Amino acid sequence: MSGESLFLAFETGGSKLVTGVAGSDRRIRRSATVRRGPSDRAPQSMRRIIAASERLLSDVPDAIQRLKAIGFGFGGTVRRSSNSPHLCLHEEGWDEVDVVSELTRRFGVPVFVENDCKLAALAEAHFGAGRGARSLFYITLGTGVGGGYVLGGEIVAFGDLGEAEIGHIVVEPDGPECCCGSRGCVEALCSGPGLAKLCGFLARRHPEEWESSDLSARARESPVMSELIVQSWEAGDHFALRVVEHSMDRLATALAATVNLLVPERIVVGGGLGTSSARLLDLLNERVEPLVVPYFRDSFTIVASQLRESVVTQGAAILASQRAARARHDDSKE
Ligand SMILES: [Zn+2]
Repeated sequence: MSGESLFLAFETGGSKLVTGVAGSDRRIRRSATVRRGPSDRAPQSMRRIIAASERLLSDVPDAIQRLKAIGFGFGGTVRRSSNSPHLCLHEEGWDEVDVVSELTRRFGVPVFVENDCKLAALAEAHFGAGRGARSLFYITLGTGVGGGYVLGGEIVAFGDLGEAEIGHIVVEPDGPECCCGSRGCVEALCSGPGLAKLCGFLARRHPEEWESSDLSARARESPVMSELIVQSWEAGDHFALRVVEHSMDRLATALAATVNLLVPERIVVGGGLGTSSARLLDLLNERVEPLVVPYFRDSFTIVASQLRESVVTQGAAILASQRAARARHDDSKE
């Protein structure tokens, strides 16, 4: 990395904090992950992630002189007009932190804040499962469900508080409650915790079927998490099949609508649940296709994320590089 431009990347606002440093090819070369303390609020998380990034840069010769920009990936909505985090459902206190001022003061370079799923979409488009496609829709099925749309190598960004909120499309109006206040959102049925919640919801509707299932026997020993449901489904349990098919049917409704609206060439599925089983994507492919308008059915493929754990920081590095280049271009015109 000697001599070339550097970009610093962050992932925050979720269960983990990650920082990475990229060179002029925009690929993350080194990264560090910091576990969040269980009671940590945003100000503590900021301190931890800044300290980790300073340690990371301390091993790189002339790092501060070569640093050009910072990409800040946030696990919640961002307010683009003020370039700041807006709301995180998993960690409080982001309204008490001035992310851009704090990072600019420490590192002396421009900072660009963006939602984590949009950055994941950007990373997959450039270096992952979206290479070669002109348009890509990324969906994460993890603790929550989020989406991002990339066209021609750039995030399609037009809403002040974002766009592509596939997680909060209502697909079952009388379904389980969602953290956003609605009922039956994709996130309430198809995230990791959502799948577990759906299992409880369906167990109450079909108690005999539940009681006779292997899944219910295994649930006496360990809590019903999405991993257990997917494992039981793969092992052939009839109740797990009901839960997984119900969840993927609802997700297929939202994804087919996404295809009809945006016609992405590629749909990339990420997140812990989304990448837990190849069979899950086979099932999703099978269910989405008949719901898409016939003349778009051959226009897209659904594939698994390739970048996995590093996807958000990788996207943050690409964004930092793109925005820094645009700023230079704008300056040269003035
Ligand atoms: Zn919701």
